[in-house]
Amino acid sequence: MAKELDSSIQYLAGVGPKRAELLRRELGIETLSDLIHLYPFRYIDRSGITPIAQVAPDLAFVQLQATVLTRTLYGPSGSIVSQDDNPIHFGACKRLSVMVEDASGRMEMVFFKGIKWNYQRLVPGATFLFFGKPQAFGTRMNIVHPEVDVPQDGALSQGALTGVYPSTEKLKTGGITGKVMCKLQAAALSLCLPEVVETLPEYILRDRGLVSLPYALKNIHFPKDSYALQKATYRLKFEELFFLQLSLLKQKYVRSRGERGLLMPKVGPDFHACYNALPYSLTGAQQRVIKEIRADLTSGHQMNRLLQGDVGSGKTMVAVLSCLLAIGNGYQTCIMAPTEVLAQQHYANIQKYLKPTAVQCALLTGSTTQKERRAIHAALEDGSLGIIVGTHALLEDNVVFRNLGLAVIDEQHRFGVEQRSKLWSKGPLVGRGPVPENFATLIPPTAEQRVPPIYEAMGGHGFPRQASADQADRVPPHVLVMTATPIPRTLAMTLYGDLDVSVIDEMPPGRKPVQTMCIRQNDRASMYKFMRAEIARGRQVFVVFPLIFESEKMDLQNLEKGYEEIVNAFPLPDYKVAIVHGQQSSEEKNFNMSAFVAGRANILVSTTVIEVGVDVPNASVMVIESAQRFGLSQLHQLRGRVGRGAEKSYCILVRDVKTSKEAEQRLNLMCQTEDGFEIAEQDMKMRGPGDLEGTQQSGLPISLNIASLAKDGQLLTEARIYAGQVLDADPTLSAPQNAPLVRELRKEKYVVKDYSQIS
Ligand code: ADP
Ligand code: MG
Repeated sequence: MAKELDSSIQYLAGVGPKRAELLRRELGIETLSDLIHLYPFRYIDRSGITPIAQVAPDLAFVQLQATVLTRTLYGPSGSIVSQDDNPIHFGACKRLSVMVEDASGRMEMVFFKGIKWNYQRLVPGATFLFFGKPQAFGTRMNIVHPEVDVPQDGALSQGALTGVYPSTEKLKTGGITGKVMCKLQAAALSLCLPEVVETLPEYILRDRGLVSLPYALKNIHFPKDSYALQKATYRLKFEELFFLQLSLLKQKYVRSRGERGLLMPKVGPDFHACYNALPYSLTGAQQRVIKEIRADLTSGHQMNRLLQGDVGSGKTMVAVLSCLLAIGNGYQTCIMAPTEVLAQQHYANIQKYLKPTAVQCALLTGSTTQKERRAIHAALEDGSLGIIVGTHALLEDNVVFRNLGLAVIDEQHRFGVEQRSKLWSKGPLVGRGPVPENFATLIPPTAEQRVPPIYEAMGGHGFPRQASADQADRVPPHVLVMTATPIPRTLAMTLYGDLDVSVIDEMPPGRKPVQTMCIRQNDRASMYKFMRAEIARGRQVFVVFPLIFESEKMDLQNLEKGYEEIVNAFPLPDYKVAIVHGQQSSEEKNFNMSAFVAGRANILVSTTVIEVGVDVPNASVMVIESAQRFGLSQLHQLRGRVGRGAEKSYCILVRDVKTSKEAEQRLNLMCQTEDGFEIAEQDMKMRGPGDLEGTQQSGLPISLNIASLAKDGQLLTEARIYAGQVLDADPTLSAPQNAPLVRELRKEKYVVKDYSQIS
């Protein structure tokens, strides 16, 4: 049907096989449709003409209308090439200088390429439009490689605003300059625009005051004026964000209506026992989040919840209480951590919390022995294990649960979606869930949550009552993903658009702020002095080195050098220094780590392996070496390792002499704020969301064409709200007026993997 849009770029006038290949390789453009969806990333205003006398080097781009006075050709050594020769030996020319003049003054245009062509057309006495970026050259100004146009009847040869397209060196040398790209776009548009079908229903265009798609496409490439450009940009950005949100919300809606959720109406004695024995009361935020989780568990729908909370905000407690809720309903639970050290620490903490309960808990990691493994496997299968804490080892096929009801995944960004989805297949078979008894009362469910017991809920909706080994009969466990990487709201909304998000935005009371300072390498002596004073007071110190080199070997050398220096400054027998890094065997790692955790070592030198989770309340100083090499969120995570006890804590950022302006900004921000969300927002602004730590593995194939998560947060929010309204009015999008939406959502770019569907 859509012939032109789908046709290969190769057959467009001015392209051909060579350029087609270039466009495909460099920009991924294969069809005319691809081409017209490559938008300019900025525009040059060519509407005005600047008098030469007013040209200043701080002007970005200027357009002059001037007459050629003289031309001078220069050879390789700067010698002037004679123009009397006939023909001129252009091959020997390295530079062409053209002096031009308008009523206000004179200026030089310089060419290093296209010398012959420019020489021949820029004849003295002729008037041209010159467009380019002026630069100061000594006391004079010139423009190197200006664009040259012939003025037409006083009117300019191009529209007032000219788009600048993404380009690469290869494209330019392959002949696809900015100007050529504009021509290709114009040709493609004239062929395609009649075929472009509006993607948004009429009522949405009206509601939101949006221009039509053909108008938007035309004006994004060749704006009639700045107003038209604004309208076009707004429409295209809104559309992109709207469809993304519509797609995510639709999945969420479908899932929340699905009946495949384990019903967990009881609270159970273990929850109460643990809760009542807590040495502190939960923060308001912790209570709120537990209520949210409890509501999910009693809803009859599968929970997919992201729990965000800054380091030290008390997520572990929430995880344990959630597990106890599931256990209270006869289910098993697992808590998966990204590293062995972290899994061990979780295990140790959780065991403490479980003391007052009857719940059995075990640890399963790569270094669990075969014998222990067998016992664990057996206890998982017979259901006697309530909580299993572990690493990826939990995902192995031979780990079989009797009835996994809740999976908690800590520090999610270390895991990929694939791994997460593997847990789904470990859910219990339909029909093996326990029959609920009375509702418990600690957090009473609302009327809506009082759904019928699981058998009826499922039977009533056509689910098989019979247990079977078939995957399709498994009910996925509830999933709680915990992350300490504060994700800016706009990003969370998109990356986790189909998850529910809970935020612990309150720190446990009694926390003292961590005093952060940034020092230079040559302040090292006074830093050591400070460290000695802290150690004398019985405190411990972290010293973290960045991973600098590509090779692990080199990093290790770097770390070992640093370690030696610290050992020299803090010698035995007064001081004990432990070292932990990725190249150690897990035995070595554990030995050193536990020496520090138990207080036998005063200083722990390490790479970023301690980044996540490790809790040593007695550590009061975090030294970060070559801090300029770390990203903001990593610095924030590291700083979160101290300030966990009652003592005043410090974070010392040691920066190298060579520190870029940007890095300096990061370090300054660290000294100014401890708010993880503010840091995350700033981080995104400074780096763009693309390489924001923790998002690469999100598994959501989102690539925005025109909207920016960093800059268009407000519009994203609007689009999400609006998408919600559209779905509220027509949850299945089956109304005739919404047909265009359904058609558009089928396109691959909006298909976002639904976690619960991956197997
Ligand atoms: P996170 O995993 O979010 O970084 P943790 O769960 O490790 O944080 O909790 C950090 C510390 O705060 C732990 O030592 C924990 O015992 C303590 N803690 C948790 N909740 C509270 C609370 N409500 N009041 C006081 N201390 C708390
Ligand atoms: Mg934690």
